[in-house]
Amino acid sequence: MQIIDYLEFWATKHCNLNCKGCSSCSPISEEWYLETDVLEKDLSRLKKIGISISNINILGGEPLLHPRIVDLFDVVKTIYPNCKLGLLTNGLLLRKMNEEFWNCCVKYSIKLKITCFPVFSESDIEQIEHLLNQHGIEYQLTRKTRFNKILTENNKSNIKDIIQACGCNNAYNLYDGYVSRCTVPMIAEQLNRRFGTRLNLEGKLNIYNATAEDIVNFLSTPNRSCINCSAFPIKVKWEKAGGSPTKEDWIIGG
Ligand code: SF4
Ligand code: SF4
Repeated sequence: MQIIDYLEFWATKHCNLNCKGCSSCSPISEEWYLETDVLEKDLSRLKKIGISISNINILGGEPLLHPRIVDLFDVVKTIYPNCKLGLLTNGLLLRKMNEEFWNCCVKYSIKLKITCFPVFSESDIEQIEHLLNQHGIEYQLTRKTRFNKILTENNKSNIKDIIQACGCNNAYNLYDGYVSRCTVPMIAEQLNRRFGTRLNLEGKLNIYNATAEDIVNFLSTPNRSCINCSAFPIKVKWEKAGGSPTKEDWIIGG
């Protein structure tokens, strides 16, 4: 049995906030919803070849935009009943969620990881915390006012320095039959298409052509697509992307 500690997947790619430089590329994403049968097929494949997963996080975009988010919870917990399931959200829709959602969060002990951007007032945050406590939900709430800009082209840094600066925390990504060490290889294609950048696209592995050992080795080893990341990421003030996102929203010195 091979073990993955953290695996993440997108429930949606689009978002209701659209932050400049979003690591899921939401401001340039089409409306997209993960289909339950795609998730079921991919997780079943990982299970079948002998991969155990300790923690699974559902991300977006904004995952609460998914009209059947509870079905995604069911799929994960049916295939990996013992994994600790978390959901990352910007919290904007929490006050509109229905009882089915809250009951499912309780049933599966789902941890809500809420990133509060400056669109929330302190009173909004208080209301959300009250709601979570009322439903007995485990949660983690983080206030965020800055983003790390990490992507770069024509990188001259060496891989050791890049990896030292890497903040992805070994939270691996699963998307449509492929795994990657982080979201970068998954969004590089989108950025290249939209802005004509030449980001490296070699950071994904097809789970249907690989053994459990191949997958775990691939994910635990830096690869050529890490050249997309700067050894000197810069902090930028959080802002909304506005109507016309630009390459500079993601790429340092772009
Ligand atoms: S809230 Fe999160 S997913 Fe949505 S645009 Fe901002 S960073 Fe991206
Ligand atoms: S591409 Fe490599 S360096 Fe960049 S965030 Fe992912 S794992 Fe880290």
